[in-house]
Amino acid sequence: MSSRTPVLAANWKMHKTIADAEAFLTDFLPRVEEEHGAEIVICPPYLALKTVVELCSQLNVKVAAQNMHEEPEGAFTGEVSAPMLAELGVGGVVLGHSERRTYFGETDDALARKVPAALDGGLEPILCVGETESQRDADATEDVLRRQVETDLAGIADDRLAEVVIAYEPVWAIGTGRTATPDQAEETIGFVRSLIASGSEEAGAAIRILYGGSVKLDNAAELLGRPEIDGALVGGASLDPEGFARIVMAAEP
Ligand code: PEP
Repeated sequence: MSSRTPVLAANWKMHKTIADAEAFLTDFLPRVEEEHGAEIVICPPYLALKTVVELCSQLNVKVAAQNMHEEPEGAFTGEVSAPMLAELGVGGVVLGHSERRTYFGETDDALARKVPAALDGGLEPILCVGETESQRDADATEDVLRRQVETDLAGIADDRLAEVVIAYEPVWAIGTGRTATPDQAEETIGFVRSLIASGSEEAGAAIRILYGGSVKLDNAAELLGRPEIDGALVGGASLDPEGFARIVMAAEP
């Protein structure tokens, strides 16, 4: 692992009520109380955000939402904005998750507005990018990632790029039990880093790029041990407090 602080983010997706979130944290937080050198981020559903922020406030555990609208307010029924999340004490937001791109029509053009809106609103964006299985089979992985990275980050000045966290999540590995091999993940993350570095060498060296896609206890240490991989965005395996705490420990820098 490099000098970049690793990020271990738990994407709970549409799992856990407020009571479930409380039960998770009661078990999880004491397990990560000691210095572990990683940045932990919990991404619960909107309704549990306030509770999770309150319970995590004493510890160095950040809280992120799973999506937001790019406008600060307006006639956008069902949406929430960066200022609304920041008011709760939320510190970040996952943007462009493949489930939002696939099921809810999230576009790169919308992300090009959301990423700057998140940063301007005081939230750390965790921008998800990744290719589908057919795109990888067609040798289009690099083209897809270039388009996503260049479009989604078009509105971010070079000197702010390192404030964004990127999660490389091959769509074929999310929730499928299939994981990219450490070599595949490292090589592709290296490519994403080179895209950032082509605009700003400094940002390329500083930006944190995570791997996501069926990260589990039995593959975490090997993935997280690779120098290009700055942490993980964990879905299914983050729902269990003991299991996720053990993944956090596997990221020991
Ligand atoms: C995710 O939700 O971003 C994810 C990677 O899910 P899973 O770990 O379940 O594949």
